[in-house]
Amino acid sequence: MPKAQETVLEINLKALQQNFDYLKSKLTSNTKFLAVVKAYAYGNDSCEIALFLEKLNVDYFVVAYIEEGVALRQAGVKTPILILHPQIVNFDILVENHLEPSLYNEKILKEFIAALSEKNIEKYPVHLKFNTGLNRLGFWHTDVKMIAETISQTKTLEVVSILSHLAASEDLNEKTFTLNQIEDFNNIAENFTQETGLKPLKHICNTSGILNYPEAHFDMVRSGIGLYGFGNSDKENPNFRPIGTLKTVISQIHNIIEGESIGYNRGFKATETLRSATLPIGHADGIGRQYGHGKGFVTIHGQKAPIIGNVCMDMIMVDVTHIDCHEGDEVIVFGESPTAENLAETANTISYELITHISQRVMRIFTNH
Ligand SMILES: *Cc1c(COP(=O)(O)O)cnc(C)c1O
Repeated sequence: MPKAQETVLEINLKALQQNFDYLKSKLTSNTKFLAVVKAYAYGNDSCEIALFLEKLNVDYFVVAYIEEGVALRQAGVKTPILILHPQIVNFDILVENHLEPSLYNEKILKEFIAALSEKNIEKYPVHLKFNTGLNRLGFWHTDVKMIAETISQTKTLEVVSILSHLAASEDLNEKTFTLNQIEDFNNIAENFTQETGLKPLKHICNTSGILNYPEAHFDMVRSGIGLYGFGNSDKENPNFRPIGTLKTVISQIHNIIEGESIGYNRGFKATETLRSATLPIGHADGIGRQYGHGKGFVTIHGQKAPIIGNVCMDMIMVDVTHIDCHEGDEVIVFGESPTAENLAETANTISYELITHISQRVMRIFTNH
């Protein structure tokens, strides 16, 4: 790869394939794999990533919103797409694009049946989401009777799967809670089968669920962060390769003397002579203001350069006093090492937030090595 001459997010499809293979190695051969590509595939590029994973025969794609599914269809993705959080106002678009909704309460269930009836559509694939403790989206276990009655009165639906979502699958201190969620889910599924005579596919695991709860893989699993290279633990991280490397360059170097300040609102005041480098990446590119004032850092020629003062919209300034570097040199913001998780930790956040925030104006480049 030539050295970066501007800010780019390099996405390594080989690493993506290795992460996928590793996750698959944790599954039995008949467990289906749902690739979570919501939020622009966690900031990477959902269309490119989905088209690549489609060639590797993933069984399903998962996005949050209908428009994200439409973008995949427009890019030519043919694999089934599950929409986690559909909104009623977009049902027409959902159906036109053969997207499969996760239905999570009585209102959306009945509205969707009404929308399908109006179009004389039968056996439309849907997924039923149950709340088992995250308390975010989902039917209650007490809703099974209502659901059974409702779906027995219509031919519009085909229930492909029932799902739930784990609240703390990465936190082994919450193992009892998680095992309870899994047991509740099992009971709901059993009850659903009793009430309806149907036996839809079951799924509850996200990435950390796959790694920590093999007994809960059921018929399919959903992975996002693992595909992008994070195992959410010191034990698992070495088994993954972060697929995205965010690079930039040094635009300018300044020699600052004691008493001078750097950046907006004089956010940094020099108490001794130093050298600062200005980089073409800022909070509009996804490096938030919380990384300023010495918390976050970038890497130049393998050495840490802390971000100094306030993060600007389009730029950051970093301390390169102790680094032998020049204008035009390449800078690593995150990648295989240090990782986005390492950088995110400096601002008390998680890899998920940092990588999904890399804005669309940062050019994406695909590699395969
Ligand atoms: C985002 C999401 C996932 C993926 O979680 P990871 O931790 O990234 O694997 C799975 N299921 C649901 C319901 C989600 O919202």
